[in-house]
Amino acid sequence: MTADTNQRSMPADRIDIDERWIERALQEASDTRLLRIEHGARHQAALAIDRLFGQRPVIIVADVNTFSAAGRDVFDALRHAGHRCIEPFVFEQSELHADYEHVETLEKALAPHDATPVAVGSGTINDLTKLASHHLGRPYLVVATAASMDGYAAFGASITHHGSKQTFDCPAPMGILADLEVIESAPEGMNASGYADLLAKSVAGADWLVADALDVEPIDDTAWDMVQSRLRVWLADPAALQRGDPKAVRSLILGLVMSGFAMQRTKTSRPASGADHQFSHLWDMQHHVHQGKSPSHGFKVGIGTLASSALYEELLLQSLDELDVDRLCLQWPEFASVEADIRERFDLPDLAAKALEETRAKYIDRQCLRDQLMRIRTAWPQLHRRLRSHLIPYGELKDCLAAAGCPSAPHEIGISYERLRENYLQAYYIRRRFTVLDLAVRTALLSSALERIFGSQGRWPTAETGISHNL
Ligand SMILES: [Zn+2]
Repeated sequence: MTADTNQRSMPADRIDIDERWIERALQEASDTRLLRIEHGARHQAALAIDRLFGQRPVIIVADVNTFSAAGRDVFDALRHAGHRCIEPFVFEQSELHADYEHVETLEKALAPHDATPVAVGSGTINDLTKLASHHLGRPYLVVATAASMDGYAAFGASITHHGSKQTFDCPAPMGILADLEVIESAPEGMNASGYADLLAKSVAGADWLVADALDVEPIDDTAWDMVQSRLRVWLADPAALQRGDPKAVRSLILGLVMSGFAMQRTKTSRPASGADHQFSHLWDMQHHVHQGKSPSHGFKVGIGTLASSALYEELLLQSLDELDVDRLCLQWPEFASVEADIRERFDLPDLAAKALEETRAKYIDRQCLRDQLMRIRTAWPQLHRRLRSHLIPYGELKDCLAAAGCPSAPHEIGISYERLRENYLQAYYIRRRFTVLDLAVRTALLSSALERIFGSQGRWPTAETGISHNL
């Protein structure tokens, strides 16, 4: 495997900790062999393609916006270098979404030749190209045009299929060119959205700490370090990011790409996604729109991050080392009553079916619950300390979101406090991943935590505080 970063073209004093991390990530990566994060990276497409794919013909995949932002330059650079280019494939839709039908359209367009796809765009274009390329058995390269999400280097593509967002297994790109010049002038809100997606790694990391302490899902140290060791540095200056400051933009794209590498390593989104993302997935599945359109992934995840953080702060006030295990086991519901609750809480049949499938997969009987609760009791003093030092306080998260230009209150993405309150249990039901939501349900503390979060003195006071459930 050949590893290649931008460091060769940089003076020695610029080869800093981040570059060493990139180098390490490339050495560890199963799919990605080349990463360049620099101004004008799009003009180096010919060199990158030559190195990765030799003289094979290439085809640019873009949408109208990304083609004019960078695709045309990539096309010109390739033709200039004498590289054989097939006529670019440009999605004409004004608002392109990562829908499965577009994967099929792209596959049909790519099938008649054997050209290497070069995706020029951000989340949607990358995911569509990633899956279509995989179906055709072709590695591809991506030219990133915005720091809007963490999927560039990730294993898997997030695509809407039969009405719900699903992650399809497929390899990450063989090469990534992140052109800072293009990313710095990405359309308004895109880089802010990526900031919120990166900020979510704080609570997502906490979820992994909990799952690890309870022996549900052990931490992979390398993947953990890739995301967490520099996270606070990457997130340090949201106000500068909003001003379009080059250093802040570079930090953001680095953090997002490294999060992708962590997912490429573990072949799951665990290093980068926890309860925070479950709120966002839920709103996707509910087809939530605000002011006529779906809020961006990052903006939904940002509010999900606050929701997760608010719950952590409530649980951290509790003495889980003194849990009444006998009582909790006695009141643990049979699956039949869980199923009845799910049917009551979800109007959409597809969503109810998904919730049932996921909840069934993580449902445990009373004996398993007893073992897990005993483990929580033992682990809590140490876990509590670790969570306290790991988590970014709620107030700080909220300020960071606002400073970066992200929504920092639920209503800014069209979610009322009443709805958010209901969303906690729904978010718990829709995914089998063990998160803070599972910790709250297993310990029967969700209901009382929500009473406080949405009570008159809480984060999000609601008029009606009497809604309760048996978990
Ligand atoms: Zn995300």
